[in-house]
Amino acid sequence: MDLASYADLAIELVNTQDRAGDGLRDLQGLTALVAQKPHLGGRVGHRDLDTMRGLRDQLRAIFAAAGAGDEDGAVERLNSLLIQHPIHPQLSRHDDHGWHVHLNEAGSIPDRYAARAAMGLAVKIGEQGIDRLGTCRAEGCGRVFFDTTANRSRRYCSDRCAASRHGVAAADRPQQPRVTEPLVAHRNGRRGPGHDDGAERPAGNTASRDGGQ
Ligand SMILES: [Zn+2]
Repeated sequence: MDLASYADLAIELVNTQDRAGDGLRDLQGLTALVAQKPHLGGRVGHRDLDTMRGLRDQLRAIFAAAGAGDEDGAVERLNSLLIQHPIHPQLSRHDDHGWHVHLNEAGSIPDRYAARAAMGLAVKIGEQGIDRLGTCRAEGCGRVFFDTTANRSRRYCSDRCAASRHGVAAADRPQQPRVTEPLVAHRNGRRGPGHDDGAERPAGNTASRDGGQ
């Protein structure tokens, strides 16, 4: 079992909320989230939904802190999650597999989810670095990701977000001549020296105001 792979649970949970809406707005959403995941089956109730939304906020804050360069803050939050949701490993044997370690087979679904997500994130950070955590820069997106690029240059959650960004930029400059014309007009309108005078004027005004007082 690869503990680091559980970091995907953290990412998937945070990304249930994005531009498209809130995937955890009802129990159906939560059921769908955990449906295909091993060891996370069972019935969920409204309290589980609230807990999962809270966990989502906590995980998002970790990504946000790391993305903002606040490594200590991100680690503090994650360590606190690890204390709140400790893992309970146990050896298990089933379906022709030999003895192998399972995590938190008992407890509520949010508890099991949180323990795996927090542990996965911690192991992944330990192995690859906390600066791998990122939040999409596209306006209004907010999805998070694990940056696996060689130079840690990933900025968007998806090609779609990156493309929408570039799409806007491309639409702004449809043809080269049309870019040149407004630029020239702009420059003529502003007049270089006049613009410089304008920049100095406020300082001069302030000085004279100071002098008057
Ligand atoms: Zn995005």
